[in-house]
Amino acid sequence: MKRLLKGGAVASGNGVLRADVLIDGEKIAAVGLNLPEEGAQVEDVTEKLLLPGFVDAHTHFDLDVAGTTTADDFASGTRSALRGGTTTVVDFACPNRGDSLRSALDAWHKKAGGKAACDYGFHMTLVEWNEKVKKELLHMYVNGVTSFKMYMTYPALRMEDADLFRALEEIRDLRALVGVHCENGDVIDALIAQGREKSPNGMGPAFHPLSRPAALEAEAIGRLLRIAQVANCPVNIVHLSSEAGMDEVRAARNRGQRVLVETCPQYLFLDDSVYYEDDFNTAAGCVCAPPLREESDRAALIQALAKGEIQTVCTDHCAFTPEQKAAGREDFTKIPGGLPGVETRGVLLYSNLVDNRRLSIGQMVRVLSENPAKLYGMWPRKGVLAAGSDADIVIYDPEAESVITGADQLSKAGYTPYEGFRTVGAIEKVYLRGTPAVERGKVSDEAKGQFVFRGRPLFNEV
Ligand code: MN
Repeated sequence: MKRLLKGGAVASGNGVLRADVLIDGEKIAAVGLNLPEEGAQVEDVTEKLLLPGFVDAHTHFDLDVAGTTTADDFASGTRSALRGGTTTVVDFACPNRGDSLRSALDAWHKKAGGKAACDYGFHMTLVEWNEKVKKELLHMYVNGVTSFKMYMTYPALRMEDADLFRALEEIRDLRALVGVHCENGDVIDALIAQGREKSPNGMGPAFHPLSRPAALEAEAIGRLLRIAQVANCPVNIVHLSSEAGMDEVRAARNRGQRVLVETCPQYLFLDDSVYYEDDFNTAAGCVCAPPLREESDRAALIQALAKGEIQTVCTDHCAFTPEQKAAGREDFTKIPGGLPGVETRGVLLYSNLVDNRRLSIGQMVRVLSENPAKLYGMWPRKGVLAAGSDADIVIYDPEAESVITGADQLSKAGYTPYEGFRTVGAIEKVYLRGTPAVERGKVSDEAKGQFVFRGRPLFNEV
């Protein structure tokens, strides 16, 4: 079936052009002025902004953490994503130590297959390094998993420096992309132990930011980037949260290293004052790692984003209900870490950065769609409105206004950290590969996600 979206403002990383968009089946057939209407269902999108479907390369759906499972599985998580204009997610498959990468990939295919409402891919997490894992990397790559993840914190996940180095050398040769969670786990554990000694009667969420200071993110970023310098491997710093961390990235770039940076809406629009609130649910609802930072970090990250120093804004969506978060009422270390956000990313960026001219529309498209599609090997199938690309399209009404509320979210978290945030504009409609997937806030049952077999990361094109 053919559809002609007529008279909209079509956005790309280069800005906005007035053009019609012709959809034929799952693909965009043409983008241009005055396209012929014959044989097509015509939809008037005058005064609307047409954006390439957003790509969220950092989600955790159906993940077992801290003795519980995330509130969102692939069904609720991807419906929440779609409603927020995200047509593709890349989730983190994660083996237990001793298990093969292959078994973890199979497990994640089972979690998502038949359930996902939007398109999806997987990164593979490396939680140990040995000959077996090394051999399996190529198998991952040829099966469409061309990005990996490593942790420098969390006892069950972290890699020691020597293993980080060995893995980086292999990933370099594979020309895959690696994202790293940078925090100094040892010193964080020491700070938590100190806190426990001083407060034997319990530690509330106010200890959370104190136990994970920005300096320990910066230290880990600096260490990783020096190891990556020796391994001669490009790296992606995921969920960058601090100005001190950004400074380490700048230093490495000044040495000539290729460093990619991801940040998240929570580090751009929220700050650590929330941890000191009396209401446990409010504070616990924002416990995540790295923690929310100071107002000055927030401002510095927005500035870095505006200068093009940050390539992607993804969400790290990892949702738990207030009941799940209550497991840490007496001890903040038992609060399952993470917050919901997959539904609100696009509208938050438009409302808080584009409307006030901190970012151009082109810059927003780059960090939400174009750059993640390029870095994660989906370009130009995803991330752009052009002939031959998947017809993943967000129709944004810049004139609408709304207020974000937890009650309105499709995420099973049951709350949003952005409660009461006013939005400028609203997502009016979302197409997923040519199928109307969201209309006026309702996700259609027709929306069916597919696994995206990803290819080579395009480091040089972001
Ligand atoms: Mn994460």
